Amino acid sequence: MNYNLSKDFALSLDSKDELKSYRKQFHIPKKNNGKEMIYFCGNSLGLQPKKTQEYVDQELKDWANLGVEGHLHAKNPWLPYHEFLSSSYSKIIGAKETEVVAMNTLTVNLHLMLVSFYRPTEKRFKIIIEDDAFPSDIYAVESQIKHHGFDVEKALIKLKPREGEFAVRTEDIEEIIDQQGESIELIMLGGVNYYTGQVFDFEKITKYAQLKGVNVGFDLAHAAGNVNLKLHDWNVDFAVWCSYKYLNSGPGSVGGAFVHERHHNSQVHRFSGWWGHNKADRFKMPDKFNPIKTVEGWQLSNPPILSLAAIRSSLSIFDEVGMDKLVLKSNNLTNYLRFLLSSIENDRIEIITPKKSGCQLSIRVINGNKTLFDMITNKGVISDWREPDVIRVAPVPLYNSYEDVYVFYNILKKLI
Ligand SMILES: *Cc1c(COP(=O)(O)O)cnc(C)c1O
Repeated sequence: MNYNLSKDFALSLDSKDELKSYRKQFHIPKKNNGKEMIYFCGNSLGLQPKKTQEYVDQELKDWANLGVEGHLHAKNPWLPYHEFLSSSYSKIIGAKETEVVAMNTLTVNLHLMLVSFYRPTEKRFKIIIEDDAFPSDIYAVESQIKHHGFDVEKALIKLKPREGEFAVRTEDIEEIIDQQGESIELIMLGGVNYYTGQVFDFEKITKYAQLKGVNVGFDLAHAAGNVNLKLHDWNVDFAVWCSYKYLNSGPGSVGGAFVHERHHNSQVHRFSGWWGHNKADRFKMPDKFNPIKTVEGWQLSNPPILSLAAIRSSLSIFDEVGMDKLVLKSNNLTNYLRFLLSSIENDRIEIITPKKSGCQLSIRVINGNKTLFDMITNKGVISDWREPDVIRVAPVPLYNSYEDVYVFYNILKKLI
């Protein structure tokens, strides 16, 4: 596409946008003067779909009217409620319905997956993770390493980009696998790195690692609902995600997990709870745990229905749009933003997000001075600052417009 720098061009892109009507389905935060803000923070907390209230109200109403009977007789019975999300999740993650489940929250799920897929031995005990992984992920893997009695210094390999680069090269990951493969138990990466926005080559890395018997898991916090995924076909062992970023399901909402179907058997080591037990006799309260032969076998507790209702509302929009159309608009929107930013001649900012990205661009402020971020915030742009020197902006295809991108560019250009 031939982009240009005029506002009319942004408006013409909006008028041709097939997904433009979806913006009206979301609550867009407003400034004091009643004008809508430029909300570029869907990578941190997605906006509320207007219909979510109705979905949550339905469950409050059924609880009020039915009490415990709602488990079986609510309009959407609570006993199997998590199953109502599986079809939508399977399309977003690229998996079979039996491979995805809504449960717990992200870091909790990561620990549960590490229980199953990090089973270190004297010979094979290392974990590979990004050097700039989200802190919670680092804390989780470090604590697991210690839990098994290993030394974090020896067991944790942190992937760094080459000097002067921001993205980690796949070939460098392969080289580490070549050199240390026999001692590596697990590779655990953010599918889309939260800081740089880099999308890892899921398929290539998984294949390469598995040849050496390494387990492969991805944290999809920044990937789910943002980029096209095919976890089943890529043969990934496990994945975890949260639903409050691109999946617009509300602060702290329930997360999800994927376990490849080849691991769905009762021999896999796991932490267990009653919700993971065989549905046919769960309420006979048997003593012996007999896991459901799907990813549901990893569930511990009966889930919070109000949260699942919010997820269900949001996923109904994803069902309607489909990931293909979403990603198509996302690429156009983000490429447009790249184009506009690169037209600003300056020595104060640079985009560190590699070409292979989702919707987020990470803008490095060269001297690490946060005032630029404070100033765009004052102008009504909601983005975020990540230490030491990055402003993350994420134009989200479901509710952001080309005009949003244009207005942001104009604000930034004037400040620079
Ligand atoms: C957002 C995010 C988390 C947050 O974890 P919670 O358990 O949901 O609080 C963890 N890891 C990554 C990579 C994230 O982006």
